Amino acid sequence: MKHFSLKTKAILLAMTMLIIGTTSYSQKTREEIPANYKWNLTDLFASDEAWRTALNALTPKLDEVETFKGTLTKSGANLLKALQYNTTLSKEATKLFIYASMNSDLDTRNMKYTGMKQELQQLFTKFGAKAAFIEPEILTADWETIDGFIKNEPKLQDYRMGLENMFRTKKHTLSEEEERIMALSRMVSGVPSSVFNTFSNAEMPKPEVTLSNGEKITIGSSEYSQYRASANRNDREIVFRAYWENQAKFKASYGEMLYGNVKADIFRARARHYDSSLEATLYPNNIPVEIYHSLVKNVNESLPAFHRYLKIKKRMMEVDTLKYLDLYAPVVKDVDLKYSYEDASKIILESLKPMGTEYVSTVKKAIDERWIDVYPTPGKQSGAYSNGADYDGHPYILLNYNDLYNDVSTLTHELGHTMHSYFSNKTQPLPTARYVTFVAEVASTFN
Ligand SMILES: [Zn+2]
Repeated sequence: MKHFSLKTKAILLAMTMLIIGTTSYSQKTREEIPANYKWNLTDLFASDEAWRTALNALTPKLDEVETFKGTLTKSGANLLKALQYNTTLSKEATKLFIYASMNSDLDTRNMKYTGMKQELQQLFTKFGAKAAFIEPEILTADWETIDGFIKNEPKLQDYRMGLENMFRTKKHTLSEEEERIMALSRMVSGVPSSVFNTFSNAEMPKPEVTLSNGEKITIGSSEYSQYRASANRNDREIVFRAYWENQAKFKASYGEMLYGNVKADIFRARARHYDSSLEATLYPNNIPVEIYHSLVKNVNESLPAFHRYLKIKKRMMEVDTLKYLDLYAPVVKDVDLKYSYEDASKIILESLKPMGTEYVSTVKKAIDERWIDVYPTPGKQSGAYSNGADYDGHPYILLNYNDLYNDVSTLTHELGHTMHSYFSNKTQPLPTARYVTFVAEVASTFN
């Protein structure tokens, strides 16, 4: 799930691949890639014009939020009306946003879709400021009143979890005026991460290197993922050096972007009276800080098993020192394993058979009906994610598929997120269909 944010970056496993001289590794343009390997965003909106029409229809509805002011705690029916209004708006707004953002991810250099995203962000910030009274107003009632509303109005049942959560986090909800300012602050708090995205995916210059076989390649993040798995240590060295030395040239700028993000976290935590940014992140999802610490502790306690694996890898690779640049290389010599996207699809469908026919046929649908954008192209968002935010539609997956074992693993991982979203959206009412990042990786890792 975006992963970040909604985007989830792929978990990386190491295995194999050899470079074949006859294959050209320069990226294809989007036009050169057959349609069946490209996701079909017209399932969201038929065209940019249709998107614009939908946005124009949504905009006046945003002002209606003010008509609910002062009514929320008067009756269950009033509360329900306001919550349903909010749910419908958020559903439509999300669809508009992901159409712009996923189009933008296909070519982060294209400013048209970035502009559409920014337009929405401004509109939603304005709405957020207007809607800032909702939580403080509901919280002026006591829980017994709200609980009584839910018992008398069955349709409020869908909102029970959200309302319980609102009262649980009451001490971190601010006054109406302060909530309005918090909503407005979203206009600036996302800047560091959007600068990072545009810079790292689109504008950062990429170094060119010459491999052992004389082939010249430009090292972006997709090529880095591909060549760090090369069986040729010399080539790995060339690619690692070029990639990381290039990153290091911009470390002051990257440092500022990260610091900007950290400051936004601290701002939110302090403004809402949390003890730490960690608590501010976990508390709204009802996750105790101890769970986070115990996860980290468990990983540390299991490090000896990982170190043993690295020792075995070092022995099998016959190297004096196992370096970071060896981690993704194949341990078995002279094995050239490549997996076409078709191979991957077959392997994955076969592996999921124990999950039953509905599960497998849905995965097949994701592959056959163009939910997935497969190959890297110039300017495309790096990494991989599944986006399941379109409640009435289907999830989408972005990949940068390079024919490696690792890519097969990433595809099945993202399909795990997609199945999670697909079945949640299909089974749950919208107010309880979304899942939080903290639990998202259960489904993907399981897959
Ligand atoms: Zn994931």
